[in-house]
Amino acid sequence: MEFKSFLVKYGEIGVKGKNRFKFEDALIHQIRLALRKTGADYEIVREHGRIYVDMEDGYDYEDTVDALKRVFGLVTICPVVRFAEKDFEAVKRAAVEYMKQVYGDRKMTFKVFTRRIDKSYPGTSETISADLGEVILNGCPNLKVDVKNPEIPLHVEIRNEGVSIYSISIPGPGGMPVGTNGRAMLLLSGGIDSPVAGYMIAKRGVLIEAVYFHAPPYTSERAKQKVVELAKLVSRYAGPVNLHIVNFTDIQLYIYEKCPHEELTIIMRRYMMRIAEMIARKNGSKALITGESIGQVASQTVDSLVSTNEVCTMPVFRPLIGFDKLEIIERSEQIGTYETSIEPYEDCCTIFVAKHPVTHPDAERIRKSEESLGERINELVQEAVRTKERILCEM
Ligand code: ATP
Ligand code: MG
Repeated sequence: MEFKSFLVKYGEIGVKGKNRFKFEDALIHQIRLALRKTGADYEIVREHGRIYVDMEDGYDYEDTVDALKRVFGLVTICPVVRFAEKDFEAVKRAAVEYMKQVYGDRKMTFKVFTRRIDKSYPGTSETISADLGEVILNGCPNLKVDVKNPEIPLHVEIRNEGVSIYSISIPGPGGMPVGTNGRAMLLLSGGIDSPVAGYMIAKRGVLIEAVYFHAPPYTSERAKQKVVELAKLVSRYAGPVNLHIVNFTDIQLYIYEKCPHEELTIIMRRYMMRIAEMIARKNGSKALITGESIGQVASQTVDSLVSTNEVCTMPVFRPLIGFDKLEIIERSEQIGTYETSIEPYEDCCTIFVAKHPVTHPDAERIRKSEESLGERINELVQEAVRTKERILCEM
């Protein structure tokens, strides 16, 4: 069967009244962004709280379904047959034809579910379902009715504008449409964790921006390209991502010169958070996102997290906080970032890592060490923010 239309469904819990329009507008905007990449022509039609995507001839089914499967907020994607002819004889013919084309002569069970949205249509949903069940049984000897647990739930919707028939439900990613829950700044490194963290927050409807701290020549151009690539991969779900690339070299070298080396990682992380927050504030982001998880590395013990958190005034979202590494890897494989994340380019922390970094930083000592950086560090921070590069990442 060649489908020309998709009925896309979203979870309705908590989307009532005025919010519903905002939610649907954002959802449609994201569907358009996702479909733009397929190059297909289409029209989006809203009817009685239903959203249909009507495709023009020559579109690619697989590409379209793949794109829709990445739109947060979509719970199910149903390829649907839509037609204007509402005469019941025509509906019967269409239902039989649908079953033949989609299921061929496979032995299966079905049940008809009718929604009579057009209240002037003759009959009740029960009588319509019963009548359609009967003509399908007559027309398709391979099919049987099972009212308790049908393999094929055949949905027939009699609308004011016409009739819809569908039985296939492809799971969408769930979540909320990007843009319905504000904006946040993701600290994106080249690792496995932060792209997954960005994905998870975007899934809750948050528009994400990203910042990467680059330390040339200690970190290579290839390492930076890898982060650009990861931002693009995340953008397949999150929509176009503005990636800010901050040159962190002078700050790192300066901290290296002035502070005890075992405190380097933690102090560097504190400066990353401070700078991320400065950029976030300028761009309307209201929270930070990191890929931290308790105990994963020395800079992620509870004491270290307390220390890096201390310098932020914005909330820091750490969606992976309770995840094991293996669970994070599994997610990164699912969303398609893993292969890129494991490419072996050094990230900016590895070069300056001390042999025995502090794992339980003492707040007072860290603050003392930072005092030794004096006014100069603020100049370096200002300079780093002023000279940052910005790349719009999309694919
Ligand atoms: P990831 O897999 O995300 O790189 P990681 O296990 O390497 O994480 P850390 O290096 O301790 O962990 O970093 C913790 C978090 O700090 C990262 O998840 C990321 O959000 C942020 N971060 C670390 N390095 C950078 C960087 N160079 N640029 C931007 N953010 C960074
Ligand atoms: Mg890292």
